[in-house]
Amino acid sequence: MSEKSVAKTVVVLGGGVLGVSTAWQLAKAGARVTLVTEAELCSGASGRSLSWLNSAGERSQPYHALRMAGIDRYRTLFARHPDLDWLRFDGALCWAADDEAGTKARHAYEKALGYDSHLVDQTTVSHVDPKVNATALASVAIANPGEGWVSLPHLVEHLVQELKAAGGEVIEHAGKASVIVTAGRAAGVRSEKRGEFIADRVLVACGPWTPEVVAPLGVHIANGSPVSMLVTSTVQDRGLKVVMNTPRAAIRPNPGNTLAVDHDWYEEDIVAHADGRYSIDEAVVSQLMVEAGRLVGDGSPLAAQSWKIGLKPVPGDGEPVVGELKNVPGCFVAFTHSGATLALILGELLTDEMLTGAKHPMLSTFRPERFS
Ligand SMILES: Cc1cc2nc3c(=O)[nH]c(=O)nc-3n(C[C@H](O)[C@H](O)[C@H](O)COP(=O)(O)OP(=O)(O)OC[C@H]3O[C@@H](n4cnc5c(N)ncnc54)[C@H](O)[C@@H]3O)c2cc1C
Repeated sequence: MSEKSVAKTVVVLGGGVLGVSTAWQLAKAGARVTLVTEAELCSGASGRSLSWLNSAGERSQPYHALRMAGIDRYRTLFARHPDLDWLRFDGALCWAADDEAGTKARHAYEKALGYDSHLVDQTTVSHVDPKVNATALASVAIANPGEGWVSLPHLVEHLVQELKAAGGEVIEHAGKASVIVTAGRAAGVRSEKRGEFIADRVLVACGPWTPEVVAPLGVHIANGSPVSMLVTSTVQDRGLKVVMNTPRAAIRPNPGNTLAVDHDWYEEDIVAHADGRYSIDEAVVSQLMVEAGRLVGDGSPLAAQSWKIGLKPVPGDGEPVVGELKNVPGCFVAFTHSGATLALILGELLTDEMLTGAKHPMLSTFRPERFS
């Protein structure tokens, strides 16, 4: 009997897309899985993500390769369910402010990697998406037809159904939990409200809180997570299909004929309160919706239905942090920026590592020890 065919008991800590994806794939592979999370599923970054599926721009080759594999897994899901309104591959548009040379350099870089990348201008952008307001475009923009978007709360709901069908258990509202270490090995988690969960493998997938969960284990992971905001528009049937990443607003379609909008120019306007909540002046939200509205149709402003503010997971050096902790065997971590793009592939690779002990070569530069 191979090691993989022996059902292991695994506790996954964190009910965001990384935790749920890994728990689902572990359960499918025969492990006994319990997912434990502080509040409800998607209460962290996964509940307020732009979740543009891409590997555009410049980054390390291993990170690019991982993201391409991430997109590949979404394409498989999309091929199986082509009619979903929460996972689409209708391409994306991107441009920099008044920086034709910068946009062309990025396009040349992408082409050199074989990434599907084309230059468009105001006269040709309608071939990419006729609903884009051509007058808002810079002199040149990049169209990436292979990119897409996903609504993470919908994906999580989909995966949780499959997790439960495969025998997995989901424990929400457990309060803060910590890793139990016995004889130098991870032995489960201890939660504030739901007691202990004993296991022979633990995955810490706590998004931006991952470094603080592993700190008591003597493990340092640099944390560069900024505070960010995602705004959802009121119902606006503007028919936009592409994702747009532009100098003043990033925007994508969202189920229910709404649009999801974010950017980073207003980060300094976000106010952190003593109780851990965040707020922002409504005028800043309105300004973002004016900028986003300019990109679509007749360019009239969008209206905000709701907005969510919180930490966006970003490791200190910007690269994913994935795998088993060297000094706490049995305890694995998954902490990354672009966790939407990477959720399916990381869940797959971690499942393999957790159940077989074999290290996957695609993760070799992303190990947690690089910070120690
Ligand atoms: C505004 C914004 C835009 C983004 N845009 C993109 C994009 O375009 N493309 C892309 O690929 N990615 C994007 N991302 C990143 C992506 O959304 C995240 O990387 C991903 O959602 C992270 O998922 P996660 O499961 O790691 O963490 P989270 O979704 O944060 O989940 C972690 C969970 O762990 C729980 N938890 C924390 N500590 C504890 C504890 N001690 N005990 C129990 N539970 C705990 C939290 O309550 C939370 O539910 C964006 C994120 C944001 C916020």
